[in-house]
Amino acid sequence: MKILVLNCGSSSLKYQLIDMQDESVLAKGLCERIGIEGSKLTHKAPGKDDFELETAMPDHGVAVKLVFDALTDAAHGVVKSVDEIGAIGHRVLHAGKKITESIVVNQEVKDIIRECFDLGPLHNPANLLGIEACEKVVPGKPNVAVFDTTFGMTLPEKAYYYAIPTEYYEKYGIRRYGFHGTSHNFVSHETIKFGNLDPEKAKVIVCHLGNGASISASIGGKGVDTSMGLTPLEGLIMGTRSGDIDAAVVQFIANHEKLSVDEVLNILNKKSGVLGLSGVSSDFRDVEKAAEEGNHMAQVALEAFQYRVAKYIGSYAAAMNGVDAITFTAGVGENDKATRKEIVEKYLGFIGAKIDDERNNVRGKAALISSDDSKVKIFMIPTNEELAIARDTLRLVEA
Ligand code: ADP
Repeated sequence: MKILVLNCGSSSLKYQLIDMQDESVLAKGLCERIGIEGSKLTHKAPGKDDFELETAMPDHGVAVKLVFDALTDAAHGVVKSVDEIGAIGHRVLHAGKKITESIVVNQEVKDIIRECFDLGPLHNPANLLGIEACEKVVPGKPNVAVFDTTFGMTLPEKAYYYAIPTEYYEKYGIRRYGFHGTSHNFVSHETIKFGNLDPEKAKVIVCHLGNGASISASIGGKGVDTSMGLTPLEGLIMGTRSGDIDAAVVQFIANHEKLSVDEVLNILNKKSGVLGLSGVSSDFRDVEKAAEEGNHMAQVALEAFQYRVAKYIGSYAAAMNGVDAITFTAGVGENDKATRKEIVEKYLGFIGAKIDDERNNVRGKAALISSDDSKVKIFMIPTNEELAIARDTLRLVEA
């Protein structure tokens, strides 16, 4: 079966068409500036010329129609008709407490996605628009919602409750949900497969280190803890997010700078993290270059980032009373061998983790990067959220 994976943002739509027979990507592309002047579709299919189309996309419905047109086009298309596409898998941010697994979309599912608009104000409305657009453009084709929050649904109560009055959980569902769930789910299972680990008992820590960064602990692929919380702000130091912080800092800055809580949260989400500390950039490559050139705060930013990752690894090893494997993934985790090496060498000797420099010199494909005498296996495994969504979609439509 061929499955279309859609990731809708408020003004963009990313897609991949995956042939599930061999899990190959038949085509992928992007619609940008939906609802804004200057909309553009970029479509790439291996073995064919890239296709670009600048045309008005007043809404997601038009964008979805253009995607199906591109996929079925005689010149740059990859299928003869939309009938060849079996189902559509949608990345959806938030399901609150109500949905705990990927699910075939029906009216009730759409209602829940809508109910969670205030938990995912930037993403959920766009995700729903994408689903509704598909229902309009290809009626009858099954739509599957794959939520970023479902990995966090297996967390035990001691991990997901915040230690605040429980009335806020009852009234508003305030708890730890965790994000990057599709990635943590995919990479933890890939770690078990690739590393030949016990599928029921393997204790795995996944470090998803990208511009947004989070870390998870899982046993047999089931989430035990994860560092992002009610929103993606909690946990690791990220490109522009502060991660963990004393909540009183919000009050202090708001009072002294005469800012609203929303404005301070905006600073913590968009102007903090590696960018805020270094004053240079949110991109790790820029910060690393500045640090090499002697910029002290750029060096501090990188060290603080690594230190926070290491502290979480330590605490998750304790949370699981042991760890069999640690896996690095996402932009920094997959590409930055120096960061991987420093985290392991500076901080993880106490659990007997040892990196192998030659194995660590890897990119683009899954690899064991620890030495043979390491007590914990360390891996680099590329994440693939689209494939994870396609696999769940296939499983559900074939069920
Ligand atoms: P997101 O999906 O959260 O936007 P990615 O997982 O794509 O993020 O990761 C983006 C980050 O990966 C950027 O901050 C970039 O600096 C970092 N990155 C990519 N390649 C390298 C590299 N070779 N060395 C260090 N950092 C890198």
